[in-house]
Amino acid sequence: MGWNRKVLRVNLSAGTCTPEPLNMAWANDYLGSRGLASKYLVEEIDPKVDPLSPDNKMIMATGPLTGTMASTGGRYTVVTKGALTNAIACSNSGGFFGAEMKFAGWDMIIFEGKSPQPVYLYLENDKAELRDASHLWGKTCWETEETIKRQHQDPLIRVSSIGGAGENQVMFACIVNDLHRAAGRSGVGAVMGSKNLKAVAIRGTKGVSGIKDFPAFLAATTAAKKVLADNAVTGQGLPKYGTQVLMNVINEMGALPTRNHRDVQFEEAGKISAEAMHEKRPSDGKAHLVTNAACFGCTIACGRISKIDETHFSVKNSPKYWGASGGLEYEAAWALGAANGVGDLEALQYANLLCNEHGMDPISFGATVGAAMEMYETGILSKEQIGLDAPFGSAEALCQLVEMTAHGEGFGKELGLGSARLCAKYGHPELSMSVKGQEFPAYDSRGIQGMGLAYATSNRGACHLRGYTVASEVLGIPVKTDPLTTDGKPELVKAFQDATGIFDSAGICVFTSFAWTLADVQPQLQAACEGDWSMDKLNLVGERIWNMERQFNLAAGLSAKDDDLPPRLKSEPAKTGPAKGLVNGLDKMKPEYYKVRGWDSAGVPEKATLQRLGL
Ligand code: SF4
Repeated sequence: MGWNRKVLRVNLSAGTCTPEPLNMAWANDYLGSRGLASKYLVEEIDPKVDPLSPDNKMIMATGPLTGTMASTGGRYTVVTKGALTNAIACSNSGGFFGAEMKFAGWDMIIFEGKSPQPVYLYLENDKAELRDASHLWGKTCWETEETIKRQHQDPLIRVSSIGGAGENQVMFACIVNDLHRAAGRSGVGAVMGSKNLKAVAIRGTKGVSGIKDFPAFLAATTAAKKVLADNAVTGQGLPKYGTQVLMNVINEMGALPTRNHRDVQFEEAGKISAEAMHEKRPSDGKAHLVTNAACFGCTIACGRISKIDETHFSVKNSPKYWGASGGLEYEAAWALGAANGVGDLEALQYANLLCNEHGMDPISFGATVGAAMEMYETGILSKEQIGLDAPFGSAEALCQLVEMTAHGEGFGKELGLGSARLCAKYGHPELSMSVKGQEFPAYDSRGIQGMGLAYATSNRGACHLRGYTVASEVLGIPVKTDPLTTDGKPELVKAFQDATGIFDSAGICVFTSFAWTLADVQPQLQAACEGDWSMDKLNLVGERIWNMERQFNLAAGLSAKDDDLPPRLKSEPAKTGPAKGLVNGLDKMKPEYYKVRGWDSAGVPEKATLQRLGL
């Protein structure tokens, strides 16, 4: 078995921690992590619940491969109804926290209710206690982690926590573990803050036992690691350049959203690229990048550890930011950089550090700043309203706004609403580059057509990690498709969406899918888990998870009209690059996608589809 078969139910209102057996029938149908936790959520909450009310629940979950010797098997997910999106949310994080939960003997922790005062959960193997966190409230994620480790006199404790953003219910607050890994999207940190839950601290010493067929598991994981090592992306590109390897590639193909998606190419992309991270700075002769880093059990090691130029205006009076720390990754570098027209690498690293420190999703934060900068440039927002000059390209404005948002000061409070609520408040909802209230990541769907459909139909709002057709449309994985046409994209998007459900639910990192297909994951799951985990079963489970999430969203009040893109992407053609003159062809792809999914024209799963999937 790849599961510990144990769930901890934490009732924050009553202050109780109660173990219960994992529902193994559901594990057989939904695998683990994203799929299984979503099944619990769907069964236990009213889909119409206010995400920030005590009636919402928040689930932290591992998958059957989490904590094992499978490469990248350190992932955990946070499943809830998203504060940013009002849709089902599942945010996934690496680092070491997920493996520690498994080592302590738990598959899943379900948080319900709301604590009358700030608390943190302390979990040491079977011992589970809610402890007073009044001394932690107001502290950053970094201070919280350090304080808990010191207090328990145990540096090996793994901590997930919220910072000021989660406490103040910034709508894109995230949950940070291991200092710079995060369950980043959809506002899961705001939900945690609404429950007065400051942190979860885990120490597990049990290891992982009970792999069904250990010799077969050893053979399968070893073979799969070789596939990663032999692949140019996972064996060379990601370890050396990190995810930022994409910056120049995506810019050249005219799909790098720039200045709130006004443009599709950024003239300063080279200055914030992976290559620039390796170059020596004129100021101190040192490269920005210090080393790469890996999450638990990962043989790819795409993580970046960097050091800011100590003389940069953002940190010259703040020595606490002079040490090496996490970042930049591609998405953060894009959202804080190209999305705002800022080409100052040091400023981006500083803004990223503050996002990690205070627990904010840098994608949504950066994209929301981009929307505010456009409103400033077009006169919708004045200097007096924002409190500073905020034109596109201003690194100074970016750095000030990240502080203001993190601390909930002045206009920072409004940025904390996210771009959809902010732009609606000022009468221009069309300027929010988002789907279901969640801001786009770093691919412009005029230059990569399939991503428009993937964004529009993503169950958790705009997201690249729910159907990464970039792999096929840009990198040719597993087969090359033309990024500029809509042909075949409905089938492609569905295939990526369903397969991703399995990667997420297994407890491994979706970046393995640059090299692995489901056929590489299948032998690992079959050897680890009891029961049938054939390819047919995996394909069925992936599709079942997608449709279950869809059903939740429909019951929450979302509909086909929420499967849409901002008008800019459908009516303002790309101005430069290979996609020049093109808009996204969502309106052509969407009806076909619904058909491929077995949904009716209103995007509702047909009865026969639900029956086939056992829903
Ligand atoms: S590939 Fe990168 S994000 Fe994924 S587990 Fe490895 S280091 Fe972490």
